[in-house]
Amino acid sequence: EPKKTMSLTTWILISLAAGIVVGIICSVVVPEGSPVDTYMIEGVFYVCGQWFIRLMQMLVVPLVFCSIVCGAASMSDPKLLGKVGLGTILMYLCTTALAVVIAILLAQLTSPGVGLDMASIVQVEPKATSTDQTMADMLINIVPTNIVAAMNSGAMLQIIFFALILGFILGRLGKKVATVNRFFTQFNAVMMYMIGLILKVAPLGIFCLIARTFANLGLTGILPMVKFIGTVYLGLFVQLFIVYMVILFLFTRLNPFHFLRKMLPVMLFAFSTSSSNASIPLNMETLEKKIGVDEKVASFTIPLGATINMDGTAIMQGAAVIFISQAFGIDLSFTALLTVVLTAVTASIGTAGVPGVGTIMLAMVFESVGLPAEGVAMIMGIDRLLDMGRTAINVTGDAVVTTCMAKMSGMLDAGVFRNNDYAAVSE
Ligand code: ASP
Repeated sequence: EPKKTMSLTTWILISLAAGIVVGIICSVVVPEGSPVDTYMIEGVFYVCGQWFIRLMQMLVVPLVFCSIVCGAASMSDPKLLGKVGLGTILMYLCTTALAVVIAILLAQLTSPGVGLDMASIVQVEPKATSTDQTMADMLINIVPTNIVAAMNSGAMLQIIFFALILGFILGRLGKKVATVNRFFTQFNAVMMYMIGLILKVAPLGIFCLIARTFANLGLTGILPMVKFIGTVYLGLFVQLFIVYMVILFLFTRLNPFHFLRKMLPVMLFAFSTSSSNASIPLNMETLEKKIGVDEKVASFTIPLGATINMDGTAIMQGAAVIFISQAFGIDLSFTALLTVVLTAVTASIGTAGVPGVGTIMLAMVFESVGLPAEGVAMIMGIDRLLDMGRTAINVTGDAVVTTCMAKMSGMLDAGVFRNNDYAAVSE
């Protein structure tokens, strides 16, 4: 399986590069209104690009609904929900919320999208509902009056609200509603398969979108993209070296740098696989054998974290919202930003720990504040570069929270933590 992912990644990177080159050449040699412009750039490239975007949008409602139901069900299993369970979930949610806020603030400072005039290329109808409603409206509107209407209009917070309750009940009732549980698990698997299919045509879709974008923008498009990637990585570093180190020290009084050094192989593993799920075994082994976390804790918190805790992904999403809103010249109100924090935290619950899903869930975050899906496609072109970094932070976040919870419940062996064995366990 890893081999297949690699080749798709290579394809996407190639199509991105080819799209940029073809687009920039077109911007120089193809005059506006010429047949090449009309039939290729504004014809074939435009139509294929739009198809690809629509395929992604098509996934949003069923995918989000189903994956959040499953995520919430996995949190609320009464067998797991002890004292450690509640604390862990709370810490997972708080670290993710903090991550989005940091990303939004950093992106406001670096302004990656300023000067990138996407509005002239893509027409977006402003969605008055989500960008200029008051705080009271936003809070009231979280509760749907009609879930079918919410799905029909793509009201993300309402869909999430219903899905969380439904999932929570399914987890509580467990075996009593085994059929319904199995339905959602299987439907989720079907949706994941559909993502796989759509990602297969991603290289073509991305090539068309990027080529058309750069044909219209010329060279001016490159710097903003580079700035955006830089902003995401800056956010990831802040989360790693400030947020995690401070949290670890406050909760455990252990040396955070010692922790970091022992975690390095896990981070590298996550970086190269872009999958929290694939990193579960190594992460658990490391926490038990090198950090000294009791197996009972890690075997519960790490798989849970790989499913619901995605701080790195949340950082990418926060930065992406600012980047794209600047590029399209859309002003986001304070309530809109608050909506972004809420949706990104729940997106993190719904994101599966496999490559690329964070960017599909980005479509839901954009939808919640009326940002155009074209923005998601632009980011998809560079997704792999971001996915590697954010996954490394995702798994580190799981390990930090696990270590804190173990320490607080007296299930951390400080002797194991203090030894100087940095070598990777197993593999
Ligand atoms: N690849 C990420 C993970 O496995 C999820 C994502 O953001 O796409 O943690």
